[in-house]
Formats: sequence, structure tokens, C-alpha cells
Amino acid sequence: MEISPSRLTSAPAEPHDRRLRIGVDLGGTKIEVAAFDDAGRELVRRRVPTPRHDYERTLGALVELVLAVEDEAGGSATVGVGMPGALSPATGLVKNANSVWLNGQPFDVALAARLGRPVRLANDANCFALSEALAGAAVGATCVFGVIIGTGTGAGIVFDGRIWRGRNATAGEWGHNPLPWPTADERPGPPCYCGRSGCIETYLSGPGLERDHAAACGQEVTAIEIGRRAAAGDLACDATLVRYEERMARALAHVINLLDPDVIVLGGGLSNLERLYTNVPRLWGRWVFSDRVDTRLLPPRCGDSSGVRGAAWLWPAGGERAPGVDGRSAR
Ligand SMILES: [Zn+2]
Repeated sequence: MEISPSRLTSAPAEPHDRRLRIGVDLGGTKIEVAAFDDAGRELVRRRVPTPRHDYERTLGALVELVLAVEDEAGGSATVGVGMPGALSPATGLVKNANSVWLNGQPFDVALAARLGRPVRLANDANCFALSEALAGAAVGATCVFGVIIGTGTGAGIVFDGRIWRGRNATAGEWGHNPLPWPTADERPGPPCYCGRSGCIETYLSGPGLERDHAAACGQEVTAIEIGRRAAAGDLACDATLVRYEERMARALAHVINLLDPDVIVLGGGLSNLERLYTNVPRLWGRWVFSDRVDTRLLPPRCGDSSGVRGAAWLWPAGGERAPGVDGRSAR
């Protein structure tokens, strides 16, 4: 094997000898790609609109952006992708993606072929949980439950610094459990796109919050505006958030009873509601089967970069076993 002079001296490596991690956040509206060095520093970040409802163009845009970011960062990169849904362990094909044009496609195989290297894919909420566990609000915690509350309600579980995917790649999909301990007026609950009614997502997502507010007082107001008005003293908006917090407390008490994580981190648009972090833990003890509850509910610390960062850390630094995924195939 030929050894280049740069490897025999202490001189800095040539730019294209740099080992990089690239993380991709494939969303329904945008594709974001970032390159990181081994110290976790973000070197380059770019985004393009997702070619909606066009699988081939989505694939092409993603590959083009990865190669451009890799070139700009100056190195050779491993590639991890966070995306909605998951790869079915049974078929190897994408399932459960709300970017429905990805469903039924062998996305990892196609990407690997076009990039000329293996890629790792994971659910975007799993990437969020991993990012917060390794570099964010939940550093040092053994068991982390990361929830993204935005247009939907997704969640991921990280245990000992690794994503726990589960036998069916469905671990953390608690948003499609029914809202626990429902009151009479919460039955059967709003219809959900999954085909059932009264799912946690139909209450805790942004659209769920807006629907609940409209049903209570007849006002069409965005979730962000509800939070803003409540903070300014609007009683109807405050009452909507009180209902929301009580429902979140019940939903997370279910998680604590089953998983008992050290930390629950919230992400997504509604994680900006600061009152959640004091009000929800004040309420959840009523439903947790324990004499006391020490679980911490925390805001995210990785901010906008959690998706790309979590995806990038699906790969290890130097070829050792991946820290980012559980013991099964990382496909
Ligand atoms: Zn559902």
C-alpha cells in the first residue's frame, strides 16, 4: 500500500483525506444536508426543497446535495439519513412515511448505489433523540425518550447512546396509541390519518392543538399564536394550553410507566412553549405508578441541527461498531 507523505509526518492531512460525517434530514418540504468533523463541528450545511411526490427526483436531489456538501467540506464522508417512516425489517422497503412517495421503495439500496458507499437510514424522530442524547439536552442519560411535536407527534428511544428500533422498527411510535385515561368528551376522539380515532397525535400535534382550540371557542388560530396569546393573558388560549398540558401529562405518564426514561426531550415547533417544562411534570405524577417521579422533561439543545446531527451519528468515527443504532441491521 502506498503511503502518502502527509501520513508520515505530523503535517495536517490533505483536505480530501479528512474523515467526515454527513447527515441528511429528508423532510416532506426540504432536504437538509450537513457535514461534520470527528469533533462534532458542523463544517457545511445546505438545504433544497424536496421534490414532492416524485421519488426519482427526490433521490437525485439528495445525492446531488450530498456530493456537493462533501466536496465543499473537503473530505470523504459516511452518510446517514433521517427520514419519516422506517425501513420495514420484513421487506427492506420504506413504510409509514408521511412523504408517501417514499413508501414501498428500496431507498437505502438506491442511495447506496448512487453514492457508491453504504448508507444508514433511521426514522427522523430517532435521529432527533440520538442527537439530543449524544450532544444535546440528554447528554449522560442512559435512557432517552425524544418526542417531536409539530405537524405530527413522533418519538424515538435511545438507550446507552444507541437508537432502539425494535423488532418491527416501530419503537417510539407512541403518537398512534390512544390518548390514555380519556374523559367522556374525549371519546372516541378526532379521526386520525392512521385510520383510528383519538390517537395521541390528534391531540398533541400542532394541528391537534389548533383543532381543540377551534372546537372550544370557535377561533381559527395557529398553535404559535395560541401560545403567544396565552402568554399575553388571553384566557381562552390559556385554557386550551391547560387542556393540552393535562393531555401531554397523561400521554407521557404512559411512557414513564412503560419505559421509565431518565429524560424526555421535546422537539418540533411546540417545544418552544416554555410553560410545558414546568406544568407537565407537575401534573404527570397523578398517573405514574410510583411514589415519586424524577424524570426530567427538557427542551431541545441541538436546535435546528438535531436532524442532520443525529443522522450523521448513525455512523461511528473510525469504522468501529456504530454507536447510533441497536444491535440489529442498521438498514
Ligand atoms: Zn393515529
